[in-house]
Amino acid sequence: MGTGDEKKYEYHAKKCQECMTYIPVDADVCPGCKKRVGTIMESGMARKAIDWKAYALMIVSWAALAVYIWWAFLRE
Ligand SMILES: [Zn+2]
Repeated sequence: MGTGDEKKYEYHAKKCQECMTYIPVDADVCPGCKKRVGTIMESGMARKAIDWKAYALMIVSWAALAVYIWWAFLRE
């Protein structure tokens, strides 16, 4: 007897949040709007893909700011 609390999605399509069209569940890029899409949520919508490049850029700019603050104010 199974416990029954394993969640398995039975969807065959997920909905792109950008253009609201249905796309294959395993698609990484929406064929309609060419935007990256993430995995399917319980609601059947695709998650927004995480933009690693933007994250990396943000981390780099924060690091640069921290170095600048150290260099400008905390050096001596
Ligand atoms: Zn789309």
